[in-house]
Amino acid sequence: MREEIQQLERIARMLEPQADVRASLRDDVVAYAEEFLSKIDDLPAYVVTEDKGIGIADSPIIEGPGTLAEAIQLLRFNVDRPGLNPASGGHLGYIPGGGIYPSALGDYLADVMNRYAGVHFGSPGAVYLENMLIDWMAELVGYPKGCGGNLTSGGSIANLIGIVAARDAHGLASADIPRSTIYLTRQVHHSVDKAIRIAGLKECVLRFVPMDRNFRMDAAALDMMIGADLASGLRPWLLIASAGTTDTGAVDPLADLGDIARDRGLWYHIDGAYGAFFILCDEGRKILRGMERSDSLVMDPHKGLFLPYGTGTVLVKDNAKLYDAFWYQAAYLQDALNSATIHSPADLSPELTKHFRGLRMWLPLKLFGVAPFRAAIEEKLLLARYFYEEIQRLPGFEVGNAPDLSIVTYRYVPAKGDANVFNEALVKEVHKDGRVFLSSTMIDGKFTLRLAVLSFRTHLRTIDLTLEILKEKAHMLETTL
Ligand SMILES: *Cc1c(COP(=O)(O)O)cnc(C)c1O
Repeated sequence: MREEIQQLERIARMLEPQADVRASLRDDVVAYAEEFLSKIDDLPAYVVTEDKGIGIADSPIIEGPGTLAEAIQLLRFNVDRPGLNPASGGHLGYIPGGGIYPSALGDYLADVMNRYAGVHFGSPGAVYLENMLIDWMAELVGYPKGCGGNLTSGGSIANLIGIVAARDAHGLASADIPRSTIYLTRQVHHSVDKAIRIAGLKECVLRFVPMDRNFRMDAAALDMMIGADLASGLRPWLLIASAGTTDTGAVDPLADLGDIARDRGLWYHIDGAYGAFFILCDEGRKILRGMERSDSLVMDPHKGLFLPYGTGTVLVKDNAKLYDAFWYQAAYLQDALNSATIHSPADLSPELTKHFRGLRMWLPLKLFGVAPFRAAIEEKLLLARYFYEEIQRLPGFEVGNAPDLSIVTYRYVPAKGDANVFNEALVKEVHKDGRVFLSSTMIDGKFTLRLAVLSFRTHLRTIDLTLEILKEKAHMLETTL
């Protein structure tokens, strides 16, 4: 037996490379990353390839070892080339963010030390660190000290956690569900609809509240709908507002909605996955006034704090409500349960073992301080307004409403022919060009282009380039279509 174990050990020890091997692996990975970063200003934001990276699937996982050089080569051609390049400042579609570099170093340390950030007993320091970040965000948005929260993988899970906390806080039993009403708009992010279904609430009555011309929820209409529902014996319980919709960046009248939720006894959930971090600048703070009235709030550091993908946040004003929804007991965790009086991420979310994702947020904040984040978020707001002004000067372009935050909607109206066909062709041409990436949406049956400014790498020169590209491609299509 001892011999057999030792023989296995010899092979198993391959999992622990020695210092010289580590250095060589690290140098090669860093060199590859540096090559990418040194070219980032000139790399395309979107690359169309024939193969679309399928080559990665042709290289199977096998028994024997491979080389790092081969692995990097596979990544270079199959993963890091085709499709969207979200690290590019030219990424102006969907909701960008960018991915600030110190987060990668935070991830590196988190992975090497592999601290158990789920439970205070396992790594009190890691839990204090994550709780401290929650407190920092709470203070930022005007939530009271002692509120609850969780660093999630993204906004979708954060919405799910908020909605589950709301459900349990309102003691919704399954028999109540068919006559319980939820209020939202058609512009609410689809992850909210998903969360409602996952939370077992799809049989609730969904009330889509009318919006004003700028796609903001109509507060008076909401109040009337709630009144009518109460009169007919329904049970209004949840209001879901947006602090920046994904489609057009619209911010609902958050303060007015807060008054209604309070007066009517509804749980008030705000999805600020895209927009909440605009509170870092004065202009954003004005637009987001009333966000602090909510009972739960979603904000995505991998959007508005420019972190690489993998970090969202949910805040719940009354920590006890969050705890009530996610506490657990397990015999094998008895030491951990008895040791901590402070709440751990595992008490406040569906997760137990989790990535120590606080470090990727904490390290950049420690290194840079908050000031550059404030400047960057205000810069993005102003860049969107600048684009909104400038695109109107280009002949043929028309715009949607003035941006609340950093998303602008616009389209080209061709001299002749179908505008929808033209704008679809226009966005395809921009993709083919690849220097910047724009996405599109349908607004009231109109094929509409979007500009979403939120990458920390997007600056004035990127917006000027985008205007140039749009002018060039629209002109080209006018003469050929
Ligand atoms: C991006 C987004 C989400 C979803 O967040 P993920 O981090 O992609 O899971 C939810 N709501 C809004 C408004 C968003 O912009």
